Amino acid sequence: MPTNGQLYAHGTYFCATMAQIGTDIKYAKLLLEAGQLVGIPTETVYGLASNALDQDAVLEIFRVKDRPKFDPLIVHADSLQKIEPFVRHLPEAARVLADRFWPGPLTLLLPKSGAISDLVTAGLDTVAVRVPDHPLTLALLASLSFPLAAPSANPFGYISPTTAQHVENQLGAKIKYILDGGQSGVGIESTIVGFEHNQPVVYRLGGLALEEIEQAVGRVRVVAHSTSNPQAPGMLKSHYSPRKKLFIDDLAGVIATHGADQVGFLGFAQPSTKLPLANQMLLSASHDYGQAAKHLFEYLRTLDGAKVAVIFAELLPEKGLGRAINDRLRRAAA
Ligand code: AMP
Ligand code: MG
Repeated sequence: MPTNGQLYAHGTYFCATMAQIGTDIKYAKLLLEAGQLVGIPTETVYGLASNALDQDAVLEIFRVKDRPKFDPLIVHADSLQKIEPFVRHLPEAARVLADRFWPGPLTLLLPKSGAISDLVTAGLDTVAVRVPDHPLTLALLASLSFPLAAPSANPFGYISPTTAQHVENQLGAKIKYILDGGQSGVGIESTIVGFEHNQPVVYRLGGLALEEIEQAVGRVRVVAHSTSNPQAPGMLKSHYSPRKKLFIDDLAGVIATHGADQVGFLGFAQPSTKLPLANQMLLSASHDYGQAAKHLFEYLRTLDGAKVAVIFAELLPEKGLGRAINDRLRRAAA
């Protein structure tokens, strides 16, 4: 048994109450094979992974995240081929999307086979599947004989983690290991696409822009705003929230109520002239939507920890990843 502060070969310290952070894929594999949880990097956000075929290991995800059992998990593998045993039917449009965008920030909802338990899908007849685009996690998945169930590695309802340290800060006491793959390059969760009569439907806006999906398969319907629909709880009305109250409307009113020096500001490209600069963060001074998405959750965390009483976030133009960013901000404000 190592002692506190002992240095491991791969450059991490042991601490009895926290997870180790490192890049040891073999160790991650050993833990997963033993039914334990591991924090994993993906290009969207960090995941809390376990063997998707081991019921006890999957139950542990719900326990550690404090996640309600009606909220289904996404199943991850390193290729479409490895996903096929878990689905009954692959609509043509799903194959087109998978060929075009995997590995990538796209999750497909497909009719599940008997190999996937109801626990993973929250009793639904579809399973959410994805091939994530991160070299460490792809190497880990390639080394495993089972897929990984992995929701975002945050306590249920809170802001999703985009670095190993975010996972450590929130779940470190409850898991043994976090694979460190650096900052998530996309920064927001995957776009979720399901199929109705074989036609694609977007259920959650995310890291793959609607425009890109439509380029591949033509116009698609978006039902991501059906907040009463418990089938897609990434869609719950209130989600992705900081601890502080977040506003997206009526900056003047928020300032009148709380005082200008108590309002943290999350803007797109330009600071607000009505607030002190010290409490302002800009998602992308160059109006780059990708950069804005990458910064979103990290900056929300920073403002959540800043010396202000409330946060005001400015919505982005409704195009490209701006849609998904606005979706997260609206839920965080709900
Ligand atoms: P997370 O990985 O934390 O972003 O959460 C996964 C999200 O995927 C859930 O909250 C749901 O919104 C969605 N999801 C997963 N499986 C299904 C499914 N079978 N049907 C509908 N939505 C799903
Ligand atoms: Mg989540």
